[in-house]
Amino acid sequence: MDLSDLRTRLGAGKLFHAYIVTGGNAETRESAGQLIARAAVCAAPSGAPCGVCRDCVKALRGVHPDIETVDRTAREHTVDSLREVRSRVAVVPNEAARSVFLIRDADAMNVPAQNAMLKIFEEPPAHAVFVLLAENPQRLLETVRSRCETVNLTPAPTRAQSETDDAARAVIDALSRRDDLMLIRALLPVDKLNRETVPAFLESLRRQAVDAFAAGKLTEDTVERLSGTLDKADKMTAVNVSAVHIAAWMLSSLCSEA
Ligand SMILES: [Zn+2]
Repeated sequence: MDLSDLRTRLGAGKLFHAYIVTGGNAETRESAGQLIARAAVCAAPSGAPCGVCRDCVKALRGVHPDIETVDRTAREHTVDSLREVRSRVAVVPNEAARSVFLIRDADAMNVPAQNAMLKIFEEPPAHAVFVLLAENPQRLLETVRSRCETVNLTPAPTRAQSETDDAARAVIDALSRRDDLMLIRALLPVDKLNRETVPAFLESLRRQAVDAFAAGKLTEDTVERLSGTLDKADKMTAVNVSAVHIAAWMLSSLCSEA
């Protein structure tokens, strides 16, 4: 499935306790993981992630207290390196209804580490959601895999990815300068994107917005406006609105005069 399919599924409301995200490339796996994390903490009664609630905005800014990312500190994730995660799984979330543990390179968990996680997967607290990003899911124990919902992403075309990243960068640049003319120019190439590349463009905007906010280039207001715009644009993509219409709508939604 692609990110748009995943969003539709999540928006329909069914959320699992544990996911394995595989396929695609490192960037699309990360995007899918973040999408699941936002859906898990979103406060909207339906259609999560809504992109506009306080939880969605905090998640987009990378500062949601109930989303924990676990990076590998050595070649493998060991029991010791996951010990802190295990100690926090039982703790009730701070702000959202759920807490999310996003484990990057989960296929680098050694067997004892996987067995330790398996104990948690067998009786997870109701509020916990685990997202395992794994390039090689066959390295995970069958017992772990069987307790997770697998999200198998379609491969992302690398050349198209760099084009969508460039297009997204131009939009972020225009927003940081609050320059509407630049924004018009930045959104012009979007009409050349197609049904496969528009979702990648929108996700690239999300990723770059997080970085731009962290670097102080975008204000909180702009990030919120962008977040709401992107979520509506995602919904348009899901119902096959053409790229040229999405670009026009994004322009009207993002212009600083609006
Ligand atoms: Zn939300």
